[in-house]
Amino acid sequence: MVTSKAHAALVASPGMGHLIPMLELGKRLLTHHSFHVTIFIVTTDSATTTSHILQQTSNLNIVLVPPIDVSHKLPPNPPLAARIMLTMIDSIPFLRSSILSTNLPPPSALIVDMFGLAAFPIARDLGMLTYVYFATSAWFSAVSVYVPAMDKKMIERHAEHHEPLVIPGCEAVRFEDTLEPFLSPIGEMYEGYLAAAKEIVTADGILMNTWQDLEPAATKAVREDGILGRFTKGAVYPVGPLVRTVEKKAEDAVLSWMDVQPAETVVYVSFGSGGTMSEVQMREVALGLELSQQRFVWVVRPPCEGDTSGSFFEVSKNGSGDVVLDYLPKGFVKRTEGVGVVVPMWAPQAEILGHPATGCFVTHCGWNSVLESVLNGVPMVAWPLYAEQKMNAFMLSEELGVAVRVAGEGGGGVVGREEIAELVRRVMVDKEGVGMRKKVKELKVSGEKALSKFGSSHHWLCQMNKDCQVHAQASEADYLG
Ligand code: UDP
Repeated sequence: MVTSKAHAALVASPGMGHLIPMLELGKRLLTHHSFHVTIFIVTTDSATTTSHILQQTSNLNIVLVPPIDVSHKLPPNPPLAARIMLTMIDSIPFLRSSILSTNLPPPSALIVDMFGLAAFPIARDLGMLTYVYFATSAWFSAVSVYVPAMDKKMIERHAEHHEPLVIPGCEAVRFEDTLEPFLSPIGEMYEGYLAAAKEIVTADGILMNTWQDLEPAATKAVREDGILGRFTKGAVYPVGPLVRTVEKKAEDAVLSWMDVQPAETVVYVSFGSGGTMSEVQMREVALGLELSQQRFVWVVRPPCEGDTSGSFFEVSKNGSGDVVLDYLPKGFVKRTEGVGVVVPMWAPQAEILGHPATGCFVTHCGWNSVLESVLNGVPMVAWPLYAEQKMNAFMLSEELGVAVRVAGEGGGGVVGREEIAELVRRVMVDKEGVGMRKKVKELKVSGEKALSKFGSSHHWLCQMNKDCQVHAQASEADYLG
């Protein structure tokens, strides 16, 4: 029987795409499952966008870890993952002392994402349960947890001969959609991924931001058929879709413009918190939008050559905003006045996707963006850039039928304006788009159902709450003797 409130300590790693789902999980635990919640936020700078997000986050006990700069410890242009990992490692002393000095009941559970595993020893020293939160799909979670058990020869054939990675009970991962660590399985990135996977399987529990009906095969495989069940020590709970909900409409010029556009006529274009493109590619996007003859809202970042996640950290410095748009084609902003809006750096995405005027989302397929689109019933043009986004794009276009996918992405080539215009029109104008819109609206209903009182995701978070209660009572009994 559940007796007193459990206290969960959540650690959010740097990057809006990591912070937002951790905050949403915290809100859910607090408001629907009677947890005490403390969220520790690790940042690389005193980020203004972070504070904007936090202003919308009432009632949570937030602890901001003092900004950490690890740039002097890294080679020039380090992989994104390495930078985040190192930042997390440097945050450990602060985290440990903060957890020890909490004035709430001592936390009984520590929840981290894939980058926060270095905090597990704190939890073990303090007798807390350990949870990993995959703020992404069950499919990606399955691949990650299966890495230590994968046949090494299969990984080599994948890298060398582009054979698929076979994951029991799940869709195989095609080479075209693969994850960066698998590109060179004798490299540092693969070793880091393997080490993380070995740590993840020791956790007391794994939470995934997905729901059973969205990924029936992958969730069944990881829960029941033994990928995670066989290799992990703890429970596996699909608890999503946890996405930002709009409590109060923001005052925003873009939203005011959208208010006067007809329903489902605006294409929203955004590549997440970190996505960047070359100058040539940005010009093609601009001209492609113009060619599509559709209304649009496009979030732009200064071009970045050779790095598709170039603003992952920088976007949070959006206070001053970059308003010099000289990298866009000459006359583009003027020509598209009234038809489209260009937003520098950061837009209120949750509000835009929830606006009735939005009819399509050209997205990099970050999982938060995917879920936000699905929960607002918006079909997509999938344009994956980095991390597990190609797997997400495959799922959206090939399995779920709620997106069309850019053909030429990822290979270093430029996606041309004609292709961009055609993809947008397939969603916005063609009959094909009607089918996608219908399917995505069905998924929206299914996601809402999972979170409802009798839904699967609600059930699994109740189960996690019970696990924490049982653990707290057992620890208390041990302590008393
Ligand atoms: N986001 C936003 N405005 C922007 C860009 C991104 O509000 O201009 C939010 C978006 O709604 C999502 C998150 O930032 O919640 C991005 O997460 P996602 O997983 O989609 O991609 P990532 O940034 O991690 O690649």
